[in-house]
Amino acid sequence: MAPKKNPVIYIGGPGYDQHFFEHFDPILAGISAHFEQILRKLRISGRMGIPVSIDLFVKASDPNNIEAFAEPIVLGSSYRIVLSAGLSYRLWLASRFVLTDYEYFSWVGQCKVLKREGTPSRKERLADFSFYIATYYILLHELAHIVLGHCDYFNKTTGSAVDEFGSSGYVLTPEQLRISRGLEAEADRQAGEWLLAFFEGALGPTGRGVDITFPSRVAAYEFYTYAITSVFVLFQQLTQRMGKRHPLPNERQYVVLTGIGTFLKRFKPQELDTLFPRVTLFMSDAGRRMGLLGAQTPLETAKVAMGMVYVDDVIKETKIRDFQHRVVATE
Ligand SMILES: [Zn+2]
Repeated sequence: MAPKKNPVIYIGGPGYDQHFFEHFDPILAGISAHFEQILRKLRISGRMGIPVSIDLFVKASDPNNIEAFAEPIVLGSSYRIVLSAGLSYRLWLASRFVLTDYEYFSWVGQCKVLKREGTPSRKERLADFSFYIATYYILLHELAHIVLGHCDYFNKTTGSAVDEFGSSGYVLTPEQLRISRGLEAEADRQAGEWLLAFFEGALGPTGRGVDITFPSRVAAYEFYTYAITSVFVLFQQLTQRMGKRHPLPNERQYVVLTGIGTFLKRFKPQELDTLFPRVTLFMSDAGRRMGLLGAQTPLETAKVAMGMVYVDDVIKETKIRDFQHRVVATE
């Protein structure tokens, strides 16, 4: 039996090449379909109640290009989200963590699966589910920038887009970087809440899954925690933890996952005490086993909370609420 060491995940290192991109390529079209699905569920309108139009453009020309941004076309009424295939591809690679020999989840064998064409294995289904969660997270994060008024704010103050990887070349001042970090945390918080609602929707009426059924609700939430952590391990690698526009990857993992507490309190209070304490432990387990720096022990995770207080200052100082749009969730 292979020793159970913590694995090291390389995304885009050895093993990453055009060959793998060919496996990923057919999945690209699905991203726009997911986005349509999101817009059907979240009806977004302007401050005066006028509908806001948001288009998604998936740039597929160069798999090596890593890009994501949200920008206004007409301030207050029409926006565009641009996402590169290269970023999606790396998220897909990151989601393959489930397929490694390392056993992240002790309960995989207990999952029930619905028979379908090609009969993918339990692990393959989980890896695809993880990619689905990562894709929704990215789209919802960009959408959150638009809805929370960040796009309008950045356009007004800097003339630039909300640019996740600095691909536009626009250089922010130290003060603008501080504001950017606060607003990024706010977008993560919002995206985390929406994402969990979509995740719960995907779990169907049993609350444990449809295509693949988790043995328990705790297992489903453990899986969700790892899926989110894989996204931030990828960001850690892409930015070498040097990105200044965003909070650190471990801080972002914390912001997105503590949103679970808010969500449960509001929509499933009877499950708060059984699920949330487990999730806080899964956060550091996932951090340690996947190599997310600063998120490897419960103490480290707890410390992150104290470092995030500036977020509410930024929200107040920028008066960002005045830029906000309205969202109505259907169903
Ligand atoms: Zn962002």
